Amino acid sequence: MSANARYGVCPDKCSGGKPDRQMDVHEMLLSRLPESIQSEIKISGSAKRCTYCGLVYLRTTKDFGRRLGFWDSGIGGPGWTS
Ligand SMILES: [Zn+2]
Repeated sequence: MSANARYGVCPDKCSGGKPDRQMDVHEMLLSRLPESIQSEIKISGSAKRCTYCGLVYLRTTKDFGRRLGFWDSGIGGPGWTS
């Protein structure tokens, strides 16, 4: 198991935040996020999104699990919520 495997679940520990629900934030989603968030992700290197609760978070070792906000969240509604 790699070190990151331990952290494969949603940082919010939402009920459906299993490792297979954690997707990379791809270019297409990235371009729809607020500019400040985009640059933060670019500086960090990459981000992930929990497809269950919508949480977008940084995934590098240094910043792991730092929460940025939500995209299409069941709670916050469609689009970006922070
Ligand atoms: Zn989640």
